[in-house]
Amino acid sequence: MNRSTFTRSGEWVIISSIKTNLKRYAKSLRLRLFLILLLVGIVPINLLKFGILQNYEKQTVSQRAAMIRNQCQMIASQLSESGYIHGNTSELVETELVQLGSLYNGRVVIVNSNFRIIKDTYGIDENKVIVAEEVLQCFQGTDSDNYNRSEEFLEVTVPLRDDVTKEMIGVMIISVPTIDIREGRTALGSTVFTLQIAMILAVLAVAFYAARLLVKPFGKVTASLEDVNGSFLDEDISMPDYTETELLSEAYNRMRRRMKLQEDSRQEFVSNVSHELKTPLTSMKVLADSLVAQGEMGEVPNELYKEFMTDIAEEIDRENTIITDLLSLVKMDKRSSDVNIKETNINDLVELILKRLRPIAARQNVELVLESFKPIVAEVDETKLTLALSNLVENGIKYNKENGWVHVSLNVDNTFFYVKVEDSGMGIHEEAQEHIFERFYRVDKSHSREIGGTGLGLAITRSAILMHHGAVRVYSKEGEGTTFTVRIPLKYVP
Ligand code: ADP
Repeated sequence: MNRSTFTRSGEWVIISSIKTNLKRYAKSLRLRLFLILLLVGIVPINLLKFGILQNYEKQTVSQRAAMIRNQCQMIASQLSESGYIHGNTSELVETELVQLGSLYNGRVVIVNSNFRIIKDTYGIDENKVIVAEEVLQCFQGTDSDNYNRSEEFLEVTVPLRDDVTKEMIGVMIISVPTIDIREGRTALGSTVFTLQIAMILAVLAVAFYAARLLVKPFGKVTASLEDVNGSFLDEDISMPDYTETELLSEAYNRMRRRMKLQEDSRQEFVSNVSHELKTPLTSMKVLADSLVAQGEMGEVPNELYKEFMTDIAEEIDRENTIITDLLSLVKMDKRSSDVNIKETNINDLVELILKRLRPIAARQNVELVLESFKPIVAEVDETKLTLALSNLVENGIKYNKENGWVHVSLNVDNTFFYVKVEDSGMGIHEEAQEHIFERFYRVDKSHSREIGGTGLGLAITRSAILMHHGAVRVYSKEGEGTTFTVRIPLKYVP
């Protein structure tokens, strides 16, 4: 690789790691919390700013209108007294009107009861008739302040009444520019803006740190899980910061314990398998070695050869049986997708099992009897169920006594069918009963070995029955006999 491709690939690695980090951050709880906190902080700040400015403008306008109205009120009585409104001239009134206009830098208009403008301090509309809505409304007794924000002026209409009769004699309209209000609002706006920026920065900082703080316990969870990596099956973790992290650690600890149990049982199984497979090999090795040793010392008699070879063949058979049983067990332990469920006539299935085992029973002088009360059809995996039931009947024969018997009976109700395998054999003592379904467990190792047992038969039976969501139980009394009862649902539920 030359230098430039190396640099480019280095850059590429950096870019892709930045991309991954960004993606991770975009999906993170921390970012979400940060945004929520930011929103919760910033929205009220903006609303507050808007409210302050609006309120300022409203207050200033209404104060201004009230002041104007006050001053108008003072002039109004002079307008009536002097008869100015009826067409008389009055220097004093004229001056006051001009003063009022110049005080607010605005325009003062006096309208008489004929809607004619008798005075306009701007001198534009004098003697014209005015039919503006606010004038009409004012004559009807409703005076108004009209604030035009876009054109920046405030118009106040004040009714003029006769001092004596209190009759409406005219309307006074004062329009004043409100540029100063806008300027005041802008000035206040910039002060508030500075404050707003400061508050937003504070909210940003608080949101950033709060989000970091809130998600910290989750980081701790990850760290603890990574920490226990080496011997994770032996260590419980504890994270009590939040209820959520506490629940998470409890769930993790439960899973860890389950895995530990599985791991222990797997290790035990592996060591049992190795031991069981080694035993026949060791015997064969001893037999073969002694044959070789004898051969080195001289001729080995034919009978001895035959005897040793028969023993070796037996050990090979035994190895074979163990391997076959192991394979059956592994198959049973596999997922339920391997189950081949079909509607099966259980009576026929059990009859066939007995037919196959009859020669073995006959060899041991054991009587095999089938009692079946009703025809049974159920959804089962034929091969697996045959294996399960064969093991029970075969055990009944194997662990029996001379001239003993094995009774197999079938029964059914609406949901289940039942198989009972009873024998007149040696029985199983109480402490052993809870272990007989364990893999490689044998009550009497040497006896079981003698009669060709591997200790896997009942484990296979139990796996097959559990696969059908059924149950198997044992009842036994030492020296009197054993009964296995099996219950399996008629309909298979995956
Ligand atoms: P094995 O291949 O040794 O028979 P199983 O798993 O079938 O293994 O049985 C486990 C042990 O339970 C047997 O070794 C035997 O000691 C005992 N057992 C099983 N069935 C019977 C029975 N019907 N009567 C007496 N003992 C039994």
